Amino acid sequence: MRDVVIIGSGCAGNTAAIYAARANLKPLVIGGHEAGGQLSLTTLVENFPGFPEGINGPDLVENMRVQARHFGAEFVPGSVIDTDLSRRPFRLNVEGEWLETRTLIVASGASARWLGIESEQKLIGHGVSSCATCDGFFYRGRKIMVIGGGDSAMEEANFLSRFGSEVTLVHRREEFRASKIMLDRARNNPKIKFLLNTVVEEVHNVADKLVTGVRLRNVKTGETWNQDVDGFFLAIGHIPNTKVFKGQIETDAEGYIISKGGARTNIPGVFHAGDVQDRVYRQAITASAAGCMAAIEAERFLEAEGH
Ligand code: NAP
Repeated sequence: MRDVVIIGSGCAGNTAAIYAARANLKPLVIGGHEAGGQLSLTTLVENFPGFPEGINGPDLVENMRVQARHFGAEFVPGSVIDTDLSRRPFRLNVEGEWLETRTLIVASGASARWLGIESEQKLIGHGVSSCATCDGFFYRGRKIMVIGGGDSAMEEANFLSRFGSEVTLVHRREEFRASKIMLDRARNNPKIKFLLNTVVEEVHNVADKLVTGVRLRNVKTGETWNQDVDGFFLAIGHIPNTKVFKGQIETDAEGYIISKGGARTNIPGVFHAGDVQDRVYRQAITASAAGCMAAIEAERFLEAEGH
């Protein structure tokens, strides 16, 4: 029986772990299938306060983990595959083993979104990727394509231009969600070409189990054409990881947890932190702040319950 279990080991989960551990609650952190969260998939983070020169994402999240362990937090790898939150203590199935906890902090984040076309799905890991920092290295001197029009797409296109002979950024509209500074950086990069009002219809070549190109379509003119590509990178947003709580924790239509104020969910004793609830800010610093709030609320909840 645990006082606090934290699901997720990104900024939100690790910060919750630091606070809960310092409150002597000996939190257990379940790492999840993408341990370290989205920061572990980024390069330089320039906007986390306290690091005037910037800090690498994986280093930042690892520092948080070390800090949490220093105060007594325990980390286990693996994912929660089933939950029973209908009564307290809550029950969680971690990779086949059930455990019990008095409070739960859900910091399970959000995972990469895919286009969903069959050829893309069949070529994941064979030229199709959602993680430029993980896979960019493999495309040295090759032709790279990035899909998306947000900050992630701009960041990934810039990052990938270090490796690729050329980077084509494909976006389905003319307007961008990306911030001006990120967009300008990509526009000023001579290696990046923009293809707007364009969607991907198919990724070639499933038969050879290797990406060799794509079929594109201009949504305004209807024109379709093939283009040679070696590396195909998705940067089209994320989906919250709440499947395992379906029908228990209240979510919106897209699966984001609906906050009941502070870090509270609809279930007393279950708290949210980070991108699993936040569809607006989605920053490392806001996720950390949310983790702090969730831990403080869990501590107060336990105290009020006499633990
Ligand atoms: P985002 O802002 O939601 O942008 C997703 C992009 O993908 C949009 O341009 C969207 O097009 C496009 N898209 C979505 N589904 C698509 C589909 N099925 N087919 C084709 N295109 C599709 O996501 P994000 O870029 O991952 O950014 C998420 C958050 O993280 C933002 O708040 C961002 O500011 C932040 N972020 C910050 C930094 C930084 O500051 N260094 C870096 C990365 C991310 P539409 O515009 O047409 O919907």
